[in-house]
Amino acid sequence: MDLARIKAISVLGVNFWLHLGRSVLPHHKVDQAELFRGYFREDRLTSFTAAEHEELPGLETCVACGLCPGTCRVMTLSEGRFRGPMHLAAAASRSQPDFIHDLDSLPLCAVCGQCEPICPERVPVAAMARAMRRMLWRVAPETLPAAYHQAAEHLRTFGNIYGPEPKLDLPIKPGAPALLLLGPVLRLMPERAAKVAGTLAKLGYDLTIGPEGPAGGVAEDLGLGPDRAWIPHAVAGRQLVIVADPELWLAVRDDPRLKGVTVKSALEAVAEKWPAGASLAGTMPGPAAVHDADPLARRSGLARLTREFLGRAGVELREMADGAENSPPVGWEGGIELVEPELAARLAAARREDAVNAGAKTLISASAQDVVALGKGGDERINVRYLFDLLGEALRR
Ligand code: SF4
Ligand code: SF4
Repeated sequence: MDLARIKAISVLGVNFWLHLGRSVLPHHKVDQAELFRGYFREDRLTSFTAAEHEELPGLETCVACGLCPGTCRVMTLSEGRFRGPMHLAAAASRSQPDFIHDLDSLPLCAVCGQCEPICPERVPVAAMARAMRRMLWRVAPETLPAAYHQAAEHLRTFGNIYGPEPKLDLPIKPGAPALLLLGPVLRLMPERAAKVAGTLAKLGYDLTIGPEGPAGGVAEDLGLGPDRAWIPHAVAGRQLVIVADPELWLAVRDDPRLKGVTVKSALEAVAEKWPAGASLAGTMPGPAAVHDADPLARRSGLARLTREFLGRAGVELREMADGAENSPPVGWEGGIELVEPELAARLAAARREDAVNAGAKTLISASAQDVVALGKGGDERINVRYLFDLLGEALRR
């Protein structure tokens, strides 16, 4: 046997006994996989999760044609702070997982999808912004804005990103056939929630409210979930679910776990039972324009339903230049008001200006969140109204 072979066998033998000794003697165990990941943490290089592997290739089809930036109102109003959809699609998203270098811009995307219809490659820019934020929570949460962390803390503690819910003075009737789901924003507004429930009750719905969980919306835009496991439990035993929040309505309507349950948006429920001849015309200065809720609600047909119903209820309507399917964000979308309240206020003011330019005296929204955003700052030229406030007033006449 040559010397090299003897040396090799000796080293193997020593290592074998060392390994055996270490496995029986108490010692501090090192997670080797974690140790390996640690070598790359500084550079924020990480392996993708299975879900990211599936999602990311579909987000990387931008050909930098330059068509979309002109459609992004946030980019126009941000005075250069937000670099816009082409930057997101062609540059920032391709630096994954190193999105941290875009953190002065990424939190300003409203995740509104207003830039998507023009795209020849059908790049899902809104989904991309959400995916980047979700990945940052996983890879480098410490780099995200403080407002994101506060929202996450609120979500853990209160089930919504805004804070503690006030007590709601609404009917809790365990045997009622219909359940009213309010959504995270209306649950923070007891008076407005009571008006929605009161209007539905006046129209003959026998309903109750119950506990609710996270519903998407801004929480989802920030990359924080949502966990909708609560929905089938909340709905169990009901024949009808009426949902006031547009985004929650879509989530419940499309939930495959709710077979056999009828799900309606609050406006659908109202439209079905609205008394013939009951008019909204005297409840506001006219004519009126409609601002549509988030992009999901627009794609759902709610924009058309709102206009049809208002026309039937005697409201003279004016369409804004960017109306219905193409409505721009008004400040809360994507969490903009959490990180840049001044930009949020500019978005709301621009939308009020759209309504004034269309010749409207009243600006109506079926989204409580839009109404709050649009009402901030005030503008005596235009009267911002929540649709369900108007309905309640009309029924009281
Ligand atoms: S999703 Fe909205 S805010 Fe984001 S880049 Fe597109 S248009 Fe702009
Ligand atoms: S329109 Fe589509 S392909 Fe063109 S720059 Fe924008 S995201 Fe890229």
